[in-house]
Amino acid sequence: MSFPADVAPAYAPAGQALVSVSTHGDTGLSEAALAGRLHEELIAWFGPSARQWRHLRSYRIAHALPAYPAGQPVQQPLRLAEGLYRCGDWAAYPSLNAALATGRQVAEAIIAG
Ligand SMILES: Cc1cc2nc3c(=O)[nH]c(=O)nc-3n(C[C@H](O)[C@H](O)[C@H](O)COP(=O)(O)OP(=O)(O)OC[C@H]3O[C@@H](n4cnc5c(N)ncnc54)[C@H](O)[C@@H]3O)c2cc1C
Repeated sequence: MSFPADVAPAYAPAGQALVSVSTHGDTGLSEAALAGRLHEELIAWFGPSARQWRHLRSYRIAHALPAYPAGQPVQQPLRLAEGLYRCGDWAAYPSLNAALATGRQVAEAIIAG
């Protein structure tokens, strides 16, 4: 989860905050049921004041992240051929860290020649 208005105040009216929550996997729940379940979890995290938080909107983004099934290697080969490399989260695991780490490895391989 993140609080986008903390870095971009125009994302929320003055004195209010915008909370963004990401979850993954298809739960089969309706939008309202999923929002309700997440709200209960947020109340457990942040205390009773979170009961006042209002659900504004949900977005279902199909294929938002690369599949990462159990047993998949931690990292795919990055060098495909001489002078041909690839990087990104899908080459390792679905996170910013994997995107940055594989990008750095490719950059270092190119520099090393
Ligand atoms: C809702 C959501 C929440 C997330 N939250 C977190 C989080 O809290 N922490 C975390 O670590 N990770 C999070 N992630 C995952 C993280 O955002 C990704 O793993 C990361 O951004 C992947 O970076 P990338 O550079 O590999 O790929 P991308 O960011 O997907 O970049 C790939 C780029 O290539 C472009 N592209 C695609 N095809 C072509 C083409 N044919 N020609 C030219 N350009 C093309 C795309 O437009 C895109 O700009 C989240 C992802 C989502 C969707």
